[in-house]
Amino acid sequence: MKLDVNALRYLSREDFKVLRAVEMGMTNHELVPAELVDRIAHLSCGGTYKVMKNLLKHKLLHHDSSKYDGFRLTYLGYDFLAIKTLVNRGVFSAVGRQIGVGKESDIFEVATEDGTILAMKLHRLGRTSFRAVKSKRDYLRRRSSHNWLYMSRLAALKEYAFMKALEENDFPVPTAVDCNRHCVIMSLVQGYPLVQVKQLQNPDEVFDTIIGLVVRLAEHGLIHCDFNEFNIMIDDDEKITMIDFPQMISVSHRNAKMYFDRDVECIFKFFRKRFNLSVQEKTDACDGSGSDIGEPDRPSFSSIAKTTGLLDKQLEASGFTNKEQDEIEKFTEGGTEQKHSGGSDDDDDDEPTAYNGQGHDEYNDDAAKKFDSLHLEDQNVSHAEGDTTERLP
Ligand code: ADP
Ligand code: MG
Repeated sequence: MKLDVNALRYLSREDFKVLRAVEMGMTNHELVPAELVDRIAHLSCGGTYKVMKNLLKHKLLHHDSSKYDGFRLTYLGYDFLAIKTLVNRGVFSAVGRQIGVGKESDIFEVATEDGTILAMKLHRLGRTSFRAVKSKRDYLRRRSSHNWLYMSRLAALKEYAFMKALEENDFPVPTAVDCNRHCVIMSLVQGYPLVQVKQLQNPDEVFDTIIGLVVRLAEHGLIHCDFNEFNIMIDDDEKITMIDFPQMISVSHRNAKMYFDRDVECIFKFFRKRFNLSVQEKTDACDGSGSDIGEPDRPSFSSIAKTTGLLDKQLEASGFTNKEQDEIEKFTEGGTEQKHSGGSDDDDDDEPTAYNGQGHDEYNDDAAKKFDSLHLEDQNVSHAEGDTTERLP
């Protein structure tokens, strides 16, 4: 999705008040009637309707009169609210190029005042082709107060909380910087998704490191649930960073073993096909009991000493509770990265569309490209005000 932040600079204080009013109205309305927007926005000089027209023009609001007459935020409108809040907080000051298109997110570079480049992930739950998308739509329909924006906010909150907790437990993840609405700001990983890598210096070592991570996660009570070549980044020194946490579950989940085995299988399958998983060396590591001669044994879920609840306190400290975990689990369960919208589902060599770097040089050249600096007109909006409407239901 194109994120043209230019319009952001020209939006007035009134524009944002009305956007926030629609956001608030959406906590209990699928479409927010214009009168309600007017009442919530409470503009001192009136003119809500004129402002709404401007927001419609910039595609920040959507008007719908099919069921009844009302307005809702578009993802762009929601993006602008999150970006503005984070810019007002001083988290970053400019938005750069898009560096990733995930199955349900857009990732951009952003720059801080001192020139540090960070990654901004905008969650877009429900945008693309999860296999179970239909049942998810049905789920949302049954729960009318839960809309796509709300689920995207939950996904961001979960991702932020898990990233923080995982980093505190020395897992190789990006550093979580901040989170607002459906937007997570994190450190930029220098590397490429493993799916783009055709050759490795030490495939066996990399393989062991990655499988070791799945096992260590389980020891900490967690399963990634989408652990595959799309969500593992690797740099030129073959250092691994794992990303993408909204679908993680606890080892006490009823389907934990299945998800654990699936994560392990994804890695085996990828290394077998792409790097021709070394037969000689791996035979040594094999205890000979399995039928998969030539491959290492798969770690067994039941034999891992798991510590459930270890991360719970850290997760709650980041604002992510069990209730929220339950809600988002119902929505994300079963989705995998294999089916993402960017290309043919069956092609193992499929590459995410916006990120075709074959090496760091290309990456760095691109990084030098212009950033749209966001010196917003409305800088005097207090943080408190920026935050008042950030929580959907
Ligand atoms: P999704 O949940 O939609 O799959 P991901 O978190 O997996 O989103 O991100 C999609 C892509 O964006 C990744 O494959 C990667 O190329 C890029 N990306 C995500 N996070 C970062 C980061 N912190 N640094 C650099 N690139 C990133
Ligand atoms: Mg991903």
